[in-house]
Amino acid sequence: MSARIAAVGVSVVIDGQTILADIDLEIRAGEVLALVGPNGAGKSTLLSVLSGDLRPTRGSVTVDGRDIRDIRHLELARLRSVLTQENQVSFPFTVTEVVEMGRSPWQRTSSRDDDERAIAEAIQATDVSHLAARRYTSLSGGEKARVSLARVLAQGTPTVFLDEPTAALDLRHQEEVMTTAAGLARSGRAVVVVVHDLSLAAAYADRVALVASGRLETAGTPTEVFTAERVGRIYGLPVEVVTQNERPVILPVRAAPSA
Ligand code: ADP
Ligand code: MG
Repeated sequence: MSARIAAVGVSVVIDGQTILADIDLEIRAGEVLALVGPNGAGKSTLLSVLSGDLRPTRGSVTVDGRDIRDIRHLELARLRSVLTQENQVSFPFTVTEVVEMGRSPWQRTSSRDDDERAIAEAIQATDVSHLAARRYTSLSGGEKARVSLARVLAQGTPTVFLDEPTAALDLRHQEEVMTTAAGLARSGRAVVVVVHDLSLAAAYADRVALVASGRLETAGTPTEVFTAERVGRIYGLPVEVVTQNERPVILPVRAAPSA
Protein backbone atom coordinates (compact mmCIF):
# COMPACT_ATOMS: atom_id res chain seq x y z
CA MET A 1 0.00 0.00 0.00
CA SER A 2 1.36 3.43 -0.86
CA ALA A 3 1.52 6.20 1.71
CA ARG A 4 -1.24 8.76 1.69
CA ILE A 5 0.58 10.91 4.24
CA ALA A 6 4.32 10.61 4.80
CA ALA A 7 6.46 12.38 7.37
CA VAL A 8 10.20 12.35 6.78
CA GLY A 9 12.72 13.58 9.34
CA VAL A 10 10.14 15.64 11.21
CA SER A 11 11.38 17.64 14.17
CA VAL A 12 9.58 20.32 16.15
CA VAL A 13 11.56 22.68 18.37
CA ILE A 14 9.69 25.30 20.40
CA ASP A 15 11.61 27.86 22.46
CA GLY A 16 14.74 25.70 22.26
CA GLN A 17 12.85 22.64 23.50
CA THR A 18 12.76 19.59 21.22
CA ILE A 19 9.13 18.44 21.18
CA LEU A 20 9.52 15.98 18.28
CA ALA A 21 12.81 14.54 17.06
CA ASP A 22 13.45 13.12 13.61
CA ILE A 23 10.20 11.25 13.03
CA ASP A 24 9.58 9.16 9.92
CA LEU A 25 6.04 7.82 9.62
CA GLU A 26 3.66 6.75 6.85
CA ILE A 27 -0.11 6.67 6.91
CA ARG A 28 -1.72 4.44 4.33
CA ALA A 29 -5.13 4.45 2.73
CA GLY A 30 -7.37 1.80 4.26
CA GLU A 31 -5.74 1.66 7.67
CA VAL A 32 -6.38 2.79 11.21
CA LEU A 33 -3.11 3.99 12.69
CA ALA A 34 -3.26 4.46 16.46
CA LEU A 35 -0.88 7.00 17.99
CA VAL A 36 -0.12 6.05 21.56
CA GLY A 37 2.34 7.17 24.20
CA PRO A 38 2.52 8.70 27.68
CA ASN A 39 1.18 12.17 28.53
CA GLY A 40 3.34 14.85 26.95
CA ALA A 41 5.04 12.39 24.57
CA GLY A 42 4.26 14.55 21.54
CA LYS A 43 1.20 12.79 20.08
CA SER A 44 -0.91 15.93 19.58
CA THR A 45 2.07 17.82 18.18
CA LEU A 46 2.74 14.99 15.72
CA LEU A 47 -0.94 14.93 14.72
CA SER A 48 -0.81 18.69 14.07
CA VAL A 49 2.26 18.27 11.88
CA LEU A 50 0.79 15.34 9.93
CA SER A 51 -2.48 17.23 9.35
CA GLY A 52 -0.68 20.37 8.16
CA ASP A 53 -1.82 22.54 11.07
CA LEU A 54 1.74 22.93 12.38
CA ARG A 55 4.91 23.45 10.33
CA PRO A 56 7.75 21.24 11.51
CA THR A 57 11.04 22.95 12.35
CA ARG A 58 12.83 20.36 10.21
CA GLY A 59 11.67 17.64 7.84
CA SER A 60 8.67 17.42 5.56
CA VAL A 61 5.15 16.04 5.24
CA THR A 62 3.66 14.95 1.95
CA VAL A 63 0.04 14.20 1.02
CA ASP A 64 -0.20 11.81 -1.95
CA GLY A 65 3.36 12.77 -2.76
CA ARG A 66 2.81 16.55 -2.65
CA ASP A 67 4.50 18.76 -0.09
CA ILE A 68 1.78 19.74 2.37
CA ARG A 69 3.10 23.35 2.36
CA ASP A 70 2.02 23.66 -1.27
CA ILE A 71 -1.60 22.75 -0.51
CA ARG A 72 -3.92 25.67 0.14
CA HIS A 73 -6.22 25.80 3.13
CA LEU A 74 -9.45 24.98 1.28
CA GLU A 75 -7.99 22.06 -0.63
CA LEU A 76 -6.44 20.73 2.57
CA ALA A 77 -9.89 20.89 4.22
CA ARG A 78 -11.18 18.62 1.46
CA LEU A 79 -8.29 16.19 1.87
CA ARG A 80 -8.24 15.77 5.62
CA SER A 81 -10.39 16.47 8.66
CA VAL A 82 -9.13 16.98 12.20
CA LEU A 83 -10.74 16.43 15.58
CA THR A 84 -8.50 18.32 17.98
CA GLN A 85 -8.33 17.75 21.73
CA GLU A 86 -9.85 21.21 22.27
CA ASN A 87 -12.84 20.60 20.01
CA GLN A 88 -15.20 22.95 21.81
CA VAL A 89 -17.75 25.14 20.06
CA SER A 90 -18.56 28.08 22.32
CA PHE A 91 -21.50 29.65 20.47
CA PRO A 92 -24.98 28.26 21.20
CA PHE A 93 -25.37 26.43 17.89
CA THR A 94 -27.66 23.45 17.69
CA VAL A 95 -26.16 20.01 17.25
CA THR A 96 -27.41 19.90 13.65
CA GLU A 97 -25.77 23.25 12.93
CA VAL A 98 -22.47 22.06 14.40
CA VAL A 99 -22.49 18.93 12.23
CA GLU A 100 -23.41 20.99 9.16
CA MET A 101 -20.25 23.08 9.70
CA GLY A 102 -18.29 20.01 8.63
CA ARG A 103 -19.65 20.53 5.12
CA SER A 104 -18.36 24.09 4.73
CA PRO A 105 -15.25 23.14 2.68
CA TRP A 106 -17.60 21.69 0.05
CA GLN A 107 -19.65 24.85 -0.56
CA ARG A 108 -19.98 25.72 -4.24
CA THR A 109 -18.85 22.29 -5.42
CA SER A 110 -20.86 19.44 -6.94
CA SER A 111 -20.38 17.59 -3.63
CA ARG A 112 -23.07 19.91 -2.30
CA ASP A 113 -25.49 17.16 -3.29
CA ASP A 114 -23.79 14.88 -0.77
CA ASP A 115 -24.40 17.25 2.15
CA GLU A 116 -27.61 15.68 3.41
CA ARG A 117 -26.33 12.14 3.15
CA ALA A 118 -22.98 12.98 4.79
CA ILE A 119 -24.69 14.77 7.68
CA ALA A 120 -27.21 11.97 8.22
CA GLU A 121 -24.50 9.30 8.17
CA ALA A 122 -22.30 11.25 10.58
CA ILE A 123 -25.19 11.74 13.02
CA GLN A 124 -26.06 8.04 12.82
CA ALA A 125 -22.46 6.84 13.23
CA THR A 126 -21.95 8.89 16.38
CA ASP A 127 -25.34 8.10 17.93
CA VAL A 128 -26.42 11.73 18.37
CA SER A 129 -29.71 11.84 16.41
CA HIS A 130 -31.68 12.23 19.67
CA LEU A 131 -29.62 15.38 20.39
CA ALA A 132 -30.11 17.01 16.95
CA ALA A 133 -32.20 19.97 18.15
CA ARG A 134 -30.25 20.57 21.39
CA ARG A 135 -27.81 23.45 21.91
CA TYR A 136 -24.25 22.17 21.73
CA THR A 137 -23.34 24.23 24.81
CA SER A 138 -25.95 22.35 26.88
CA LEU A 139 -24.49 18.89 26.22
CA SER A 140 -22.43 16.69 28.53
CA GLY A 141 -18.72 16.26 27.82
CA GLY A 142 -19.21 12.88 26.16
CA GLU A 143 -22.14 14.14 24.07
CA LYS A 144 -20.06 17.13 22.92
CA ALA A 145 -17.24 14.78 21.97
CA ARG A 146 -19.56 12.68 19.81
CA VAL A 147 -21.11 15.75 18.12
CA SER A 148 -17.63 17.11 17.39
CA LEU A 149 -16.74 13.74 15.88
CA ALA A 150 -19.92 13.90 13.77
CA ARG A 151 -18.82 17.30 12.42
CA VAL A 152 -15.46 15.79 11.42
CA LEU A 153 -17.08 12.73 9.82
CA ALA A 154 -19.50 14.94 7.86
CA GLN A 155 -16.49 16.64 6.27
CA GLY A 156 -16.13 13.43 4.26
CA THR A 157 -12.37 13.57 3.70
CA PRO A 158 -10.11 10.71 2.58
CA THR A 159 -7.89 11.18 5.64
CA VAL A 160 -9.23 11.63 9.17
CA PHE A 161 -7.22 12.71 12.23
CA LEU A 162 -8.80 12.15 15.63
CA ASP A 163 -7.06 13.34 18.82
CA GLU A 164 -8.40 11.36 21.77
CA PRO A 165 -11.95 10.98 20.44
CA THR A 166 -12.72 8.40 23.13
CA ALA A 167 -11.35 10.31 26.14
CA ALA A 168 -14.72 11.50 27.49
CA LEU A 169 -16.77 8.51 26.42
CA ASP A 170 -18.38 5.62 28.26
CA LEU A 171 -17.41 2.03 27.51
CA ARG A 172 -19.94 1.39 24.75
CA HIS A 173 -19.38 4.71 23.00
CA GLN A 174 -15.60 4.16 23.08
CA GLU A 175 -16.09 0.90 21.21
CA GLU A 176 -18.54 2.54 18.81
CA VAL A 177 -16.13 5.36 17.95
CA MET A 178 -13.36 2.86 17.24
CA THR A 179 -15.76 0.70 15.20
CA THR A 180 -16.62 3.83 13.20
CA ALA A 181 -12.91 4.53 12.69
CA ALA A 182 -12.38 0.96 11.48
CA GLY A 183 -15.37 1.32 9.13
CA LEU A 184 -13.88 4.48 7.62
CA ALA A 185 -10.65 2.59 6.98
CA ARG A 186 -12.52 -0.30 5.36
CA SER A 187 -14.06 2.23 2.97
CA GLY A 188 -10.56 3.25 1.91
CA ARG A 189 -9.86 6.19 4.17
CA ALA A 190 -6.74 6.69 6.22
CA VAL A 191 -7.52 7.18 9.91
CA VAL A 192 -5.06 8.40 12.53
CA VAL A 193 -6.36 8.23 16.06
CA VAL A 194 -4.72 9.16 19.36
CA VAL A 195 -5.87 6.73 22.04
CA HIS A 196 -4.72 6.30 25.63
CA ASP A 197 -6.37 2.95 26.24
CA LEU A 198 -3.79 0.56 24.79
CA SER A 199 -6.22 -2.37 24.66
CA LEU A 200 -8.71 -0.24 22.72
CA ALA A 201 -5.94 0.78 20.31
CA ALA A 202 -4.83 -2.83 19.97
CA ALA A 203 -8.36 -4.08 19.27
CA TYR A 204 -9.12 -1.69 16.41
CA ALA A 205 -5.87 -0.40 14.91
CA ASP A 206 -4.15 -2.00 11.94
CA ARG A 207 -0.90 -0.40 13.06
CA VAL A 208 0.28 1.34 16.18
CA ALA A 209 2.88 4.11 16.41
CA LEU A 210 4.30 4.46 19.92
CA VAL A 211 5.64 7.92 20.70
CA ALA A 212 7.80 8.52 23.77
CA SER A 213 9.67 11.71 24.73
CA GLY A 214 9.23 13.18 21.25
CA ARG A 215 10.60 10.15 19.43
CA LEU A 216 8.93 7.38 17.51
CA GLU A 217 9.79 4.41 19.70
CA THR A 218 8.38 1.92 17.20
CA ALA A 219 5.56 1.35 14.72
CA GLY A 220 4.02 -1.95 13.73
CA THR A 221 1.06 -4.22 14.30
CA PRO A 222 -0.48 -4.14 17.79
CA THR A 223 1.11 -7.51 18.55
CA GLU A 224 4.53 -6.29 17.47
CA VAL A 225 4.34 -3.04 19.43
CA PHE A 226 2.61 -4.07 22.64
CA THR A 227 5.06 -6.36 24.35
CA ALA A 228 5.00 -6.34 28.15
CA GLU A 229 8.67 -5.33 28.19
CA ARG A 230 8.18 -2.31 25.92
CA VAL A 231 4.94 -1.03 27.46
CA GLY A 232 6.37 -1.49 30.96
CA ARG A 233 9.53 0.41 30.08
CA ILE A 234 7.85 3.30 28.23
CA TYR A 235 5.05 3.84 30.74
CA GLY A 236 7.12 3.02 33.82
CA LEU A 237 4.55 0.50 35.02
CA PRO A 238 4.70 -3.29 34.94
CA VAL A 239 2.00 -4.74 32.68
CA GLU A 240 0.74 -8.12 31.63
CA VAL A 241 -0.25 -8.70 28.01
CA VAL A 242 -2.99 -11.26 27.40
CA THR A 243 -4.68 -12.08 24.12
CA GLN A 244 -8.32 -11.80 23.01
CA ASN A 245 -9.25 -12.62 19.41
CA GLU A 246 -5.55 -12.56 18.52
CA ARG A 247 -5.26 -8.97 19.74
CA PRO A 248 -3.21 -7.95 22.78
CA VAL A 249 -5.00 -6.75 25.90
CA ILE A 250 -2.76 -4.73 28.21
CA LEU A 251 -3.36 -4.99 31.94
CA PRO A 252 -1.41 -3.28 34.73
CA VAL A 253 0.11 -5.75 37.16
CA ARG A 254 -1.64 -4.82 40.42
CA ALA A 255 -0.90 -6.04 43.88
CA ALA A 256 -3.62 -8.19 45.43
CA PRO A 257 -5.68 -6.18 47.93
CA SER A 258 -4.48 -6.90 51.43
CA ALA A 259 -6.93 -8.83 53.56
P1 ADP B 1 0.71 14.58 24.04
O1 ADP B 1 -0.39 14.90 23.08
O2 ADP B 1 1.47 13.34 23.69
O3 ADP B 1 0.24 14.51 25.47
P2 ADP B 1 1.78 17.15 23.18
O4 ADP B 1 2.14 16.91 21.77
O5 ADP B 1 0.56 17.93 23.47
O6 ADP B 1 1.80 15.76 23.97
O7 ADP B 1 3.00 17.89 23.87
C1 ADP B 1 4.30 17.35 23.88
C2 ADP B 1 5.20 18.21 24.76
O8 ADP B 1 5.41 19.46 24.11
C3 ADP B 1 4.63 18.53 26.10
O9 ADP B 1 5.69 18.53 27.04
C4 ADP B 1 4.06 19.91 25.95
O10 ADP B 1 4.06 20.60 27.16
C5 ADP B 1 5.02 20.52 24.94
N1 ADP B 1 4.39 21.53 24.07
C6 ADP B 1 3.40 21.30 23.16
N2 ADP B 1 3.07 22.43 22.53
C7 ADP B 1 3.87 23.40 23.04
C8 ADP B 1 4.01 24.81 22.80
N3 ADP B 1 3.26 25.45 21.90
N4 ADP B 1 4.95 25.48 23.52
C9 ADP B 1 5.73 24.84 24.43
N5 ADP B 1 5.62 23.53 24.70
C10 ADP B 1 4.72 22.82 24.02
MG1 MG C 1 -2.39 15.28 23.33
